[in-house]
Amino acid sequence: MSFTQPRLPYSPDALEPIISQRTVEYHYGKHEKAYIDTLNKLIEGTPFADMTLEDIILKSEGKTFNNASQAWNHIFYFFQFNPVGKREPVGKLRKQIEEQFGSVEEFKRKFEEAGTTLFGSGWVWLSRDKEGKLFITQGKDAANPMCEGLNPILVFDVWEHAYYLDYQNLRASYLHQLWDLVDWDIVASRYE
Ligand code: MN
Repeated sequence: MSFTQPRLPYSPDALEPIISQRTVEYHYGKHEKAYIDTLNKLIEGTPFADMTLEDIILKSEGKTFNNASQAWNHIFYFFQFNPVGKREPVGKLRKQIEEQFGSVEEFKRKFEEAGTTLFGSGWVWLSRDKEGKLFITQGKDAANPMCEGLNPILVFDVWEHAYYLDYQNLRASYLHQLWDLVDWDIVASRYE
């Protein structure tokens, strides 16, 4: 079995001006495709070839882990965006955010801060544990919180390739604007 890259549910210019068509074409079209193609080559003829992407992430290391996790992380990242999505969390998830962080604004501030203070390449994650408690974590390189027993529900990519074409070195500005693309209905469905 080999993995194929899912088609994005929106057109490549749909996230402009926050994420340009050019960035979508490079980031999803080339970087993400390369992770999937490399993974397919690495797992061919190995026991990983019959596993789900999630199982490969949990059971592999080194190159296979890096490419499997990057493949998964980018799908998770791009599929949480929607040019006409719900821009504020509601219901159970909002209640949990307010209970733990005080307010949605304060949560966003902490999340952005985790993104700006991560040195080098990686991801900032919002995850839940089995009881529904939320965690903001930084992950270096291809790290994924599912390896720590958490369920990811939201992620911002802080590798330079995610923002350099549109924001150059202004990572904080990129992170701050991403909220205007997040569809909280999708995040909530991951939380439930
Ligand atoms: Mn990326």
